[in-house]
Amino acid sequence: MNQSKHSIPLQGIAAAPGLAYGPVKKITTEIQRDVPRSQENNPVEQQARMDTAVRAARKEISNIKSRISVQTNSNDAQIFDAHLSFLNDPVLIKKVSNMIGQGWNAEAAWIDTIDYFEKQLKKLNDPLLQARAMDIVDVGKRVLDHLMDQSDSLIISPEQPVVIAADDLSPSSTATLDKDAVLAFCLAGGSATSHASILAKALGIPAVVGLGEQFNRISENDQILINGSTGNVVVNPTPEQVETYHREKDERHQVELTDRSNANLPAVTRDGRQVLVVANIGSAEDAANARRLGADGVGLLRTEFLYLNHDHMPDEESQVLVYREIADIMGNLPLVVRTMDIGGDKAVPYLGTKDEANPFLGWRAIRMIDERPDILLSQFRSLLRGFANSQLHIMLPMVSSLDELEKALEIYRTARSQLLSEKALMAEEVKFGIMVEVPATAILARQFARHVDFFSIGTNDLTQYTLAVDRTNQRVAHLSSYFHPAVLQLIKMAIDAAHQEGKWVGLCGEMAGDPLAIPLLLGLGLDEFSMTPNSIPQAKRLIRSFDLAQSQEIAATALQYAHTAEVKEYLNGQKH
Ligand code: PEP
Ligand code: MG
Repeated sequence: MNQSKHSIPLQGIAAAPGLAYGPVKKITTEIQRDVPRSQENNPVEQQARMDTAVRAARKEISNIKSRISVQTNSNDAQIFDAHLSFLNDPVLIKKVSNMIGQGWNAEAAWIDTIDYFEKQLKKLNDPLLQARAMDIVDVGKRVLDHLMDQSDSLIISPEQPVVIAADDLSPSSTATLDKDAVLAFCLAGGSATSHASILAKALGIPAVVGLGEQFNRISENDQILINGSTGNVVVNPTPEQVETYHREKDERHQVELTDRSNANLPAVTRDGRQVLVVANIGSAEDAANARRLGADGVGLLRTEFLYLNHDHMPDEESQVLVYREIADIMGNLPLVVRTMDIGGDKAVPYLGTKDEANPFLGWRAIRMIDERPDILLSQFRSLLRGFANSQLHIMLPMVSSLDELEKALEIYRTARSQLLSEKALMAEEVKFGIMVEVPATAILARQFARHVDFFSIGTNDLTQYTLAVDRTNQRVAHLSSYFHPAVLQLIKMAIDAAHQEGKWVGLCGEMAGDPLAIPLLLGLGLDEFSMTPNSIPQAKRLIRSFDLAQSQEIAATALQYAHTAEVKEYLNGQKH
């Protein structure tokens, strides 16, 4: 540490929890605008260079996207769909080819086109479209780096662990951060819900954003302390501050170690009620991680990755292979697989998704069943074969009417009878359930419960649809909370209805892993908590620290409040 410098406290926005201390590396994610320009080139050659660079960028983005969907909630990966769609935009492609046709070199044609689109978007009086200008520059930089042979410049993986300081970080730069080399990051720009913050949280990298002017007080190679839980930053901290940091970090680490060493024990409340703590996964890698972290099973296997990573419908054999790999890892533990939830913010054109004015209210998930029953049939067949020896549970997303459930069950029976006549090996004791994530389904839960074996409550969407708050729109993000009293009532309705029909209920939205929500959900009678694998050890500890009677009181009190803030304040007071 440089003792001669003064300690400078800064206050930013807490974006991703955790503590870090280390040397600053300042980076720029600016696109190079002064590229070499010439106008007497061979258009065929230049077009070939252009195509190669775009292909390479496309591949890179797809890789980042699948890496992110493996490591995080799959919706975070959808940021990269916008990037891919820019690269497939016919207007953009035509503009570049026209300039190349006039003899311009690929670099000049590309940067002029990016410039043009950036300006067009910035001109529009819509903050969301203006934000897309940043995305287009991000994609533009990636392609340009390939054209100019600088393709490593976006990949930040320094040998010495550092704290990254930048004006802003694009989603793709954030996604390429190497967790072993980047201790934390702090940004001049950004908000708690900007893409960089969401990704940092999902990747487990502490982050503070929104430092504004204060950012100028940070210099390359300064030592810096970051508290991503409070938004506090200290540049060149005093020895005492560093000591406090080490102590806090050690304490947190000890708690984590103890949690992990107890993670394989069951989650039983002090008065003997056992619940399952299971994992949300999106790949075989996740499944292995979930087992290491003590998951009692899988509560949500998101299967979208099977479709998002392709440009054509995956055939049955390739689906079966992926499922078998996951089945082998999970062994005899219960496993809930959700049929694909494409649509909404996950566009897959070869499946027939189109641009829609309100995609979250549109052709999504189970709603594809009338036009494309073949997709579901192929998925049911693959699931039954791939998980032939597993404790398989199949779950339908976005169900809003009993008709959808009945149609899906009909297709499911067809899949079974086809496999039977083909004498294929298939799973026998399969349980069938639905996600409760549309308010209509929570309201009609009693009827649904008669036709299924279980429910899993999807609070991410249930919150979005109950409160009419688009879950991808930062501007209304402050209105979104699963602690909203209306959402809590619907959760209670779903749990009570299922129990009255003798069925079990899980919850697989982000809420299940939130320490504040755990006693409340226990008290409401939830049977299964499904969460990102990293949260499992802590959730199990919290469950063990409560008793059921006490949680029931907490739930009853929490449900009496009329304001979200009151619910949260009350739950904060009940924390262990
Ligand atoms: C949910 O909506 O809560 C859920 C778990 O599903 P997803 O986040 O994949 O929409
Ligand atoms: Mg959902």
